[in-house]
Amino acid sequence: MDLILFGMQGSGKGTLGKALASYFNMNTYETGAVLRKLSNEKSPLGDKIKKILESGNLVDNEIVMETVKDFIKKNSSEKSIIFDGIPRSIEQANSLKDLLSSLNRKFLAFHLEIDEETAMKRLTTRKMCKKCNAIYPADYSKKYCEQKIDGQECKGELFSRSDDNPETIKKRIDIYNEKTIPAINVFKENLIEMDGRPPIEPVKESAIKLLNPILR
Ligand code: AMP
Repeated sequence: MDLILFGMQGSGKGTLGKALASYFNMNTYETGAVLRKLSNEKSPLGDKIKKILESGNLVDNEIVMETVKDFIKKNSSEKSIIFDGIPRSIEQANSLKDLLSSLNRKFLAFHLEIDEETAMKRLTTRKMCKKCNAIYPADYSKKYCEQKIDGQECKGELFSRSDDNPETIKKRIDIYNEKTIPAINVFKENLIEMDGRPPIEPVKESAIKLLNPILR
C-alpha cells in the first residue's frame, strides 16, 4: 500500500515520511528534494526550476509527473512508496491517482494538520542537512547532522533553505491553502487525518500505531 502524505510546509511531513519509510521499509519519493537536486543542474531546465523554487510557486505539472514516473519505474520493486510533497493541486491529484491506478498500486492518503502560525514559526527557524535532508528545529544547537545512516553519523553541514524566508513562506502557505487543500479532498474516501502541532516524536509514535494494522 502506497502512502500519500499531505501537510502544510512545516507540519513535520518530511520528518514523519522518513520515520515511516524506515519503520515500514518503504521507499520515499520526496518531491521538493528531487526538484532541488534538478535545480542545481547547469541546464535550461535546472535554471527554470531554480527560479520557480525561489519564488515559492509550483513547478509545472508535466515536469513533476515525469520525475514521479521515472521514480516509480526505477523503484518498481515490491516495496511500497511514500509520496511526500505530491500532489499539490487537484490536477496533480488526478494525475497521480490515475498513474497509481493504472499500475494497480493501492494507496492511502494521510494529512498532518497544523495552523499557519505554527508553520511560520517552525519554517523561519528550522535548519536542514545538506547531505541527507534531515530537518532540525530552532533549539538544535549543533552545527552538523547527527542522523544515523547505516550506523554512521551523517555529519552533514546544516543550512537554512533559501525559500525559508518570511516572504516566500507566506507565498508557499497561500498556495497550499488555495491549491493543495482542495487536492486533499480528492482522496477523502481514503484519508487519515492527524494533529501535527505536538512535537514530532509523539506524532511519529501515534502515526506508526495508527498505520501499523494497515501497512504491516
Ligand atoms: P517542499 O520541499 O515540499 O517545501 O517544496 C519546495 C518547493 O518545490 C515548492 O515550494 C515548489 O516550488 C516545489 N514543489 C515541491 N513539490 C511540488 C509539486 N508536487 N508540484 C509542483 N511544485 C512542487
